[in-house]
This record gives sequence, structure tokens and C-alpha cells, in this order.
Amino acid sequence: MAVPLLMSALPITDLSRLCLHTVTTKPWPLAVAAKNYAAAGLKGITVWRDSAQNHPDGIKDAGQLCRDEGLEIVSYVRGGFFTALDGAGRQAAIDDNKRIIDEAAALGAPLIVLVCGATPGQSLFTSRAQIAGGLAAVLPHARASGIKLGIEPLHPMYADSRCAVNSATQALDMALALKDDYIGVTIDVVHLWWDDRLQAEIARCGREGKLFSFHICDWKNQPCDMLNDRGLMGEGVINVPEIRGWIEQAGFRGFNEVEIFSNRYWSMDQGDFLKQIIAAYRTKS
Ligand code: ZN
Repeated sequence: MAVPLLMSALPITDLSRLCLHTVTTKPWPLAVAAKNYAAAGLKGITVWRDSAQNHPDGIKDAGQLCRDEGLEIVSYVRGGFFTALDGAGRQAAIDDNKRIIDEAAALGAPLIVLVCGATPGQSLFTSRAQIAGGLAAVLPHARASGIKLGIEPLHPMYADSRCAVNSATQALDMALALKDDYIGVTIDVVHLWWDDRLQAEIARCGREGKLFSFHICDWKNQPCDMLNDRGLMGEGVINVPEIRGWIEQAGFRGFNEVEIFSNRYWSMDQGDFLKQIIAAYRTKS
């Protein structure tokens, strides 16, 4: 008897929804990355803040050169870090996020992805309340600038000092409580693959119109560095096609964004790495 396949997405047949985060090919400056992504047939680019800021001709020009290559700018990464032990620190974060919104507008990015923050010395509940307060403070500026904000829940291993939002449930509940069309959720498989509520929460994000973006890579079995040893799709323990299927069943038609931090891949020839990414995207995503 044939074993039924796991509920999965349709196979990937082309690169029309493939987007790369500039950090994935970190050794390449933005202009080199954009040229090589386009030459390889990619249609999307997510620009990291350092890569835009290091562009010698400024952020506006950084956006133009991506569009001149035929690339759609999918998002700007990243804002957030709203938590602090004192009010001055929280206000500085709000001010910085307003600048990031201005940068995204100059770049021509429609979405900013948020790593929301967590601060040792206070509870996660306190940090979450501060995140909600910071978001409420910057949302009017985001809306006026036409820039959406995506709360990206991070894996609980980052709850110490990077992000107190650690599940899709928390991210979506926070987004809904803010009652604003400009706030939603970014789903990253590496942060959420373990969550037994993930399928249901992706569906709920879709029903609520809050599914803003989707990041892929893989969690290697026994990574040698918890930040900078992410795997290519198919190299680890995540069933990426299954999660992509949930995302598509929820109505998402945006880009599949490859975001890989890896000392190992950054040390190799980035052109060869790009070929590996595309092969893994076609067959393992
Ligand atoms: Zn991500």
C-alpha cells in the first residue's frame, strides 16, 4: 500500500518567488549581491541595514540599484529592540525605529522585520509589555510612511537578550492587540519549526491578514554555533516544504526569503554558495 505523502506545498518550478537576504551572502557588498542575484534569476532581495548603510552612494541609491537589476525589495532588516531597564533606553529605541522607518522609505522597502528585544534583569512579561508600548509609539510613523512592521518571533534560545516574543501565538496576539493594519507577523522556520501550534497559528495569521513574510533555511542537527551555523534547506531537521505548504494554504503569495547565517558558508566562494542555495530551493524547499 502506498504511504501517503505528508501534506505539502506544490513543488517549486521556478525562481519567481525566491528572495535572498543580503546577510546570506554577507561578504558581498550590496551592489555585488544585487547584480549576482539578478543574474542568477532571483526576483527578490531583502536588504539588511548594514548592507544598505555601507552602500557608498546612500540608501536611496541602494534601493534604486536593486530595482535597476529587476529585483523587488521585499523587506528591510531589522528594527526592534524595544526593551530596556530605563525609560531613556526605551525612548532611544523608539527614536531609532523611527529612523529605521525613514530608511526603509528611502530604500523603497514596504516592510521592516522586527527583532523585538529582551533585557536581562526584567521578566519576559515586562519585556513584552515594553515591546507592545514601543510598537504603539512607532506605528503612527510607520503608517504615515507606508511601511508595514513584521513581528518575528525568535526561538526561545534568544529569550535571554534578543527577543521576548518566542512563538507565533505571542506574535499574532500582540499584533492583533495593536489593532493596526501596519503590524503583522513574520514566520521564520528556524525559529518556529518545533512549535506544535505552528500550523494552526499560520492559518490564524492568514485569516487575520497578518501573514507578512516568510523566511526559510534549516536547523542542522547539532549546530556548532547557535547563531551562525544555519543550514541550507534540506540540510537539517526542518520539513521546509511542509511549513511552506501551511503558509500557502493560509493564502500567502509573497516571497520565500532565504536567510542563512553561517560562518561556514560565508567562508566559501559566494558564487558557488548561491548555486547551492538555488539547488536547495528547487528541490528541498
Ligand atoms: Zn528570519
